[in-house]
Amino acid sequence: MKKTLYIKAAVFLLLSLLLPVCSQVLAGQKTHTVFFEGEDNELHVYRINGSKPGKTLLIVGGIQGDEPGGFLAADFYADFLLEKGNLIVVPRANFPSILKKERQINQDMNRKFLDDDISNYEARVVNVLKKLICESDCFINLHEGSGIYSNKWESEYKSPQRFGQSIIADDSFLKKQDPKENVNLKEMAQKVIEKINRHIKDKEYFFHFNNHKTDHPDSIHKEQLKSATYYAHNVCKIPAFGIESAKSLPLEQKVRQHIYAINAFMEILGIIPQTPGIDLKKPEMQYMIISVNNSIPVVVGKMQHLKIHRGDIVEILDIVANYERGLSVDVIGLGNQFNDMKKKLIINEPTRIVAKKDFYKCGSVFLDIDTKSLKQEPQLTLSESGDTLILRYKLKINGNLKIVDNYSHVNIRKGDKFVIEDILAGKVDPSKYIVNFKGFVGNLHNNGGEDRGYLIDTSKDVLMERYSLGKKGRHYYVLTTLNGKEVGKIFIDIQL
Ligand SMILES: [Zn+2]
Repeated sequence: MKKTLYIKAAVFLLLSLLLPVCSQVLAGQKTHTVFFEGEDNELHVYRINGSKPGKTLLIVGGIQGDEPGGFLAADFYADFLLEKGNLIVVPRANFPSILKKERQINQDMNRKFLDDDISNYEARVVNVLKKLICESDCFINLHEGSGIYSNKWESEYKSPQRFGQSIIADDSFLKKQDPKENVNLKEMAQKVIEKINRHIKDKEYFFHFNNHKTDHPDSIHKEQLKSATYYAHNVCKIPAFGIESAKSLPLEQKVRQHIYAINAFMEILGIIPQTPGIDLKKPEMQYMIISVNNSIPVVVGKMQHLKIHRGDIVEILDIVANYERGLSVDVIGLGNQFNDMKKKLIINEPTRIVAKKDFYKCGSVFLDIDTKSLKQEPQLTLSESGDTLILRYKLKINGNLKIVDNYSHVNIRKGDKFVIEDILAGKVDPSKYIVNFKGFVGNLHNNGGEDRGYLIDTSKDVLMERYSLGKKGRHYYVLTTLNGKEVGKIFIDIQL
């Protein structure tokens, strides 16, 4: 037992030594680091660096799991992009307590920042948070507080002991070594409070500055010596605040108040968001949701095969991708030229469904025709390769399907109507390839070279002779490339 503990400690030490290197973020980028991956207390840290350098604000939510106003607000900032300055966002510091909707599991995580030798997951998370705090220029810890804070006793519910609707600091000033660098915490908090209160109609719910005077002998909040903000104040010497929305308010209002507070702190620190943030990640489909003969929909992953029977009615109900908008599907050889989503299509031949985000192809699934088994529920076969490891071409000549091998010759007559329906490409998603009939332009508006799905009517002068071999208009070829490299070819010989 002890041995594994030592190993774990050594691994953690190693990780923490490596971390500053791994998490180096270039300007204008963001990184997502996962600590304790696979454990219940998995910790997600998002670092967002603006294109221009500036101050770093650390936003922590969910250090106590029963305060959703804080972690739901922090969550929005994990996806931010910045023009200037930096954010470190830890939306869910204490995930196990969030799952239980409880303040704590073993111990209150926000009382473990002073000497504490109890070893548990809370301690390990706190160790990470301590490092993040000292890396930052300012730290805000997002909470929900019970009752409403008031500097005089008004009622059991509204008093100096209460936390709700306040911005808490451990003192009114942060004293630095050089007194000229002292930070007026009260003034900073007041600026933020003024911005939050603009959105609050009922004066009873106005935010106030709540000075805990944590290390004063007469402090009524001595337990706060063990808190994250006091660690920031006392050890890292950075301005740190607890933002407390009143627990009794509606969730949306609590989240909004936190958002007003975060935005105001960003403004004070000169951290400027990109509006809107631009993150042009490569479109990738994860899966399609398909119903066969009005059955309960099945989920079919990228490159998976769905076995159906000839004549089945297939309807693609939805696709899930790393984008939500601009999505469509194209059932090769069926449907219309735009979008085949939510259309009931009768499938008589094996085909492929291509998912698209705008005009970018982002994944395929296959519809295979099962001729052996009896008509029953559609079967999802998990084989990713299908039975075709070699590149083959699925052609339609005058309406008749023809499958031909790579590098073979296809004889047609002038006047034939010719379509390259698709390629069968084994393990690789066929939409990653470009299949180009040299001498034919499929898409007149945007000639990317892709010619699958276009009718090539050889009775008309749609082929450019100068692209034919020998330039006589008799021998053409179809070139298939993957990432710009030739992977296959077929030769089209036309009898005039
Ligand atoms: Zn709290």
